Amino acid sequence: MARRTAQTAPRLDAAIERRAACGGRDTDIFFPHVSDSRAVEKAKAVCRSCPVMQACLMQALRKGDEFAVLGGTTPNERRLILRQLAMRKREMGATA
Ligand code: SF4
Repeated sequence: MARRTAQTAPRLDAAIERRAACGGRDTDIFFPHVSDSRAVEKAKAVCRSCPVMQACLMQALRKGDEFAVLGGTTPNERRLILRQLAMRKREMGATA
């Protein structure tokens, strides 16, 4: 499978992008190989310093990006969050 690059990644909403800690950086760091934990941590460290991390995470969850570290999470971590949210929603529906 071809690796997605920063150039083909979905763009952040303009309001997020204006304040993003990754603005003006080499965006390749947000596309680490999943097995490279040091590179993943390097990207997450930038996100942790970002004033729009929560908004970025919400956008990534909504849009479903499968390649980049966004909002301080990897694609696998976002899949887990979405599974947990879906499970919680089902549980809430079952008790209502
Ligand atoms: S959370 Fe990370 S990827 Fe998202 S805008 Fe901030 S620095 Fe960029």
